[in-house]
Amino acid sequence: MKSQDFIALDERYGAHNYHPLPVVISWAEGCRVKDPEGKSYLDFLSAYSAVNQGHRHPKIIKAAKDQLDSSTLTSRAFHNDKMGPFLKKLCDFTGYECALPMNTGAEAVETALKAARRWGVEVKGVQNGKQEIICVDDNFHGRTIAVISMSSDPDSTVNYGPYVPGFKRVPYGDAKAIEGAITANTVAVIVEPIQGEAGVVTPPEGYLKAIRESCTKHRVLFIADEIQTGFCRTGKRFAWQHEGARPDIMCLGKALGGGIMPVSAIVADHAVMDVFTPGTHGSTFGGNPLASAIGVAALEVLEDERLDENAERLGAIFRDEVAKIRCPKMKLVRGKGLLNAVVFEKGFEAWNVCVALKDAGLLAKQTHGNIIRFAPPLVITEKELREAIGIIKTVFEKIA
Ligand SMILES: *Cc1c(COP(=O)(O)O)cnc(C)c1O
Repeated sequence: MKSQDFIALDERYGAHNYHPLPVVISWAEGCRVKDPEGKSYLDFLSAYSAVNQGHRHPKIIKAAKDQLDSSTLTSRAFHNDKMGPFLKKLCDFTGYECALPMNTGAEAVETALKAARRWGVEVKGVQNGKQEIICVDDNFHGRTIAVISMSSDPDSTVNYGPYVPGFKRVPYGDAKAIEGAITANTVAVIVEPIQGEAGVVTPPEGYLKAIRESCTKHRVLFIADEIQTGFCRTGKRFAWQHEGARPDIMCLGKALGGGIMPVSAIVADHAVMDVFTPGTHGSTFGGNPLASAIGVAALEVLEDERLDENAERLGAIFRDEVAKIRCPKMKLVRGKGLLNAVVFEKGFEAWNVCVALKDAGLLAKQTHGNIIRFAPPLVITEKELREAIGIIKTVFEKIA
């Protein structure tokens, strides 16, 4: 079968809840993917940062294969011999006391919201049902009903009511607005340190630090959704480290699964995590041996290959070089580490540019019409990065 046949099957039998670029991937390794016709592409989306370690990293593949030969799924009704070592590794990597494993990112966010609401009642003394959580405009935290109830994006929310109450939304990047929205019933503030889906929106310097201070002052939990920004993507292990603004809860996902399977978690210290007691939260697949073995390998690769340093160094080159491209429609290049975006002028449709990039051998996706995100696997070499910049230059210079 050819690419167009696979696309036709998706169209015919799939729900139409995505609008993918017309490309089919049937093989992948490192930073490169191929279509069934054998055409090769540089992957500059990395499955929305779920493939930070590169496609099919040999160490992670080996860990998965080895684990398939011993045990894969036990449920949490029993202990298994892989979850404990995984949680220890995750705590060591993040610097938190405990971790609670789930599967998808949205589940990690739900877990953080539940932890915060329960903490609000049992530790802070808020009456159950009155807990408030502050979120921000243009957030993206996932697709479940509670999570979209925080969203300001009409596409995410249209006709999905009734929405979950208890959220207050303020503008992103404005720490005073957060401070002003805090009441006696506020239990948490949730933000992305950089808003990935919104178009790699970086808040003003000092924003996270100011949130941390407000939260400490008013006894409110600071939840950072690091599902996309975490695991070395922005040049540090976690994006909050750019400001030393340590959250009370971190939501983690995507690259924790090493590009193989969904693995998510929240991490926190005992003072927060101990609100969970037997039976009060769970997941059949969370912490399963296969996911745990993959999670350990995924973290080891980030560490051993110093992918934070690679992201920091190559990200700076990327922004410098792309900013030099002569393209009148291009307004700015922004981001941190290897989480970057090019913003075109308002009203510009970047879809055709993404199609042209694809035809030239680079896969990237536009967001909000006029923004293209560039986020390659963090194992990318300088040579591969410069090859990509060459493709981007050729395509951008042709934009009329
Ligand atoms: C992708 C993402 C999520 C949701 O993760 P899923 O695994 O798709 O549920 C949540 N928050 C952020 C910041 C994300 O980028």
